Amino acid sequence: MEKKIKKKKIIILATGGTIAGVGDEGKMAGYKPGAVSAEKLIETVPGLDSVADIETRQICNVNSDDITSEIWISLARNINDMAKNPEVDGFVITHGTDTLEETAYFLNLTIKTDKPVVVTGSMRPSTAISADGPANLYQAVTVASSENAAGKGVLVVFADRIYAARSVSKSSTYHLTAISGGESGALGVVRDGNVYFYNTPEKCHTVSTEFDISNIDMLPKVNVVYFSVDADPGLLDYAAKLSDGIIIAGAGAGEFSEQFKSIIEKLEIPVVISSRVNDGIIIGDNLICKKTIAGDNLPPQKAAVLLRLALAKNMDISQIKNAFLVY
Ligand code: ASP
Repeated sequence: MEKKIKKKKIIILATGGTIAGVGDEGKMAGYKPGAVSAEKLIETVPGLDSVADIETRQICNVNSDDITSEIWISLARNINDMAKNPEVDGFVITHGTDTLEETAYFLNLTIKTDKPVVVTGSMRPSTAISADGPANLYQAVTVASSENAAGKGVLVVFADRIYAARSVSKSSTYHLTAISGGESGALGVVRDGNVYFYNTPEKCHTVSTEFDISNIDMLPKVNVVYFSVDADPGLLDYAAKLSDGIIIAGAGAGEFSEQFKSIIEKLEIPVVISSRVNDGIIIGDNLICKKTIAGDNLPPQKAAVLLRLALAKNMDISQIKNAFLVY
């Protein structure tokens, strides 16, 4: 007699983005992101119900440039609560690709479960020719249903590949493979119903982090200041007045002008040095201003996520420096 394998129960948390976008029939650009509900989204994916039992939750329906720390916290709390239910096996978050890496990294640092949590999105709206959303969603649910995806931190599934939340970033404004893993590459691949892992993430994540969002409603303010030739240091001064911490997107290995240096040295808030260069690492010993903090290999927008969480925990400068080595 044929043995029936119980399907996994996967919760899809929808937040909007191009994957839920609607535009002129067939067109790939000029559409409205966050226009289709989670329920409608899953109807577009043939065979999804044979992969898993799906339940949906609409967290918000926005362009991901309008994601806020309040939305992040609500998302993390929803996951932390539902993960306690033994009936729930995993989670998929649908999200716009512009800030997908920031949300994935935030969740990677704040959710408290080993159950698979997978973020996905698409580069083309649901109404485009060859929309990529249905395949990405199918693959994301497949990975979230895989026992092998447990305990690896938050994952991002996009265009056949599985990435770690910490190393993933958006690297093209339009390609279907816009989401990539940079120097760290992918953790694995997904083909139809099969998941293949080749690597595991090294840095601390999920259940082993010290970050707890259960008692906060929003995160402290951190702004990124981008350095370029002749960048006005007044902008940095102004940004610091609006912020609890600053990230510098420096040139090369986190460098900037003497004018920037003189302002940075006077600031009384934590300043993390990152780079406007895609790949590479910022090393503490080589920093131009000794009181600043090295952002390791995090891009500025992800360094901002970690600094906000560190500030929410009232970490001092040496604790923040350590956080940038550990996470
Ligand atoms: N602007 C869109 C968003 O981030 C882009 C996308 O989803 O690809 O919501």
